[in-house]
Amino acid sequence: MKIKLKPITVSEIFSGYKDNAEEGVVGYGGKLNIRPAYQREYVYKEEQRNEVIRTVMRGFPNTEFPLNVMYWAKTDEDHFELIDGQQRTISLCRYVNSEFSILIDGMPQNFDNLSPEEKAHILNYKLQVYVCTGSADERLEWFSIINLAGEPLTSQELLNANFTGPWLSSAKLYFMKSNSAAYGLANKYIDIEANQSRGKGLETAIKWVSKDNIKQYMADHQNNENADALWLHFKKVIEWVQNTFKDYYHEMKGLNWGQLYDKYHQQTYDPKKVSLQIQELHGDICVENVKGIFEYVLGGSSDKKLLDVRVFDDTIKRSVYASQTKTAKAKGKSNCPDCAMGHDSNKSKIWDQNEMEADHVSAWSKGGATDAKNCEMLCIRHNRAKGNR
Ligand SMILES: [Zn+2]
Repeated sequence: MKIKLKPITVSEIFSGYKDNAEEGVVGYGGKLNIRPAYQREYVYKEEQRNEVIRTVMRGFPNTEFPLNVMYWAKTDEDHFELIDGQQRTISLCRYVNSEFSILIDGMPQNFDNLSPEEKAHILNYKLQVYVCTGSADERLEWFSIINLAGEPLTSQELLNANFTGPWLSSAKLYFMKSNSAAYGLANKYIDIEANQSRGKGLETAIKWVSKDNIKQYMADHQNNENADALWLHFKKVIEWVQNTFKDYYHEMKGLNWGQLYDKYHQQTYDPKKVSLQIQELHGDICVENVKGIFEYVLGGSSDKKLLDVRVFDDTIKRSVYASQTKTAKAKGKSNCPDCAMGHDSNKSKIWDQNEMEADHVSAWSKGGATDAKNCEMLCIRHNRAKGNR
């Protein structure tokens, strides 16, 4: 990749300046795309816009106060895209086009009102433009280094900038236009912006179909006629989710459904059974990670780690210990129920609380709750003997 400093005058940029609203903005003799599709809309506030002009005028007629540098990308032998500096560039072009006036010495003046010297000063003002030439990959890296307009592009926006073509246009229709098909189908299941503009939905879909190789997938499909295949896979995943889980829970939003689909879609599930299991787990206060219950059920309810099941808290343990110990002392028996039933010297031993552990009377995995009624304190040896329940 090469980056080369190329001072360019306002007059050069303004030549051929055309603002075709939706169709885009061009300048520099028609060779500079000032507002490429992925760029933000012109959102300068009046005050910032005026400040750009004042900065250029400030040094008049001698020294120049520089605007910050701008970045262009060279897209072919004779064409450029403006990567950073869009708002400053448009402000200058609009001023030279006499589209607004600013206060100079207390008088509102548009470009036409200026003296010939002042006009020349603006037109000959040299913008410090860095022109970048390189492969799509190199440009991508370079884009990520420059944070545009204070708000960095999302990773998907950066990728979109580098893989334009018919496939991307089609993908944007499915996933990035307001009221997109993706939003209508899946906004309950995936993270997607209300206006779908920054590519979250598209990112999710490509992530799913490519098994997390988003960039490679976009490179491979850049020149495809359309993104129908991407859309169909996305749709298949969401429909599988809807068919497998009959009830909707808000915790379903944002899960990696593409990965779960890959792992489990070939298995058959009884939606009624699944529905009951989910309902039970969802209502279980011991399940700390509610988002994990869907994969837990898909995997045959074997991986308890997914649920992050809550253990008895200290208040419960203290109160159960106290009442067990009181009863045990009255009977002259051990406060560990299992020791009390034995025949060795421990049968009347009163353990300290720190020598005991809490156990579920009825195991959590068989429906036992994690409340005081289901809590029993056992000596460490007896609790461990029962295994991890
Ligand atoms: Zn014991």
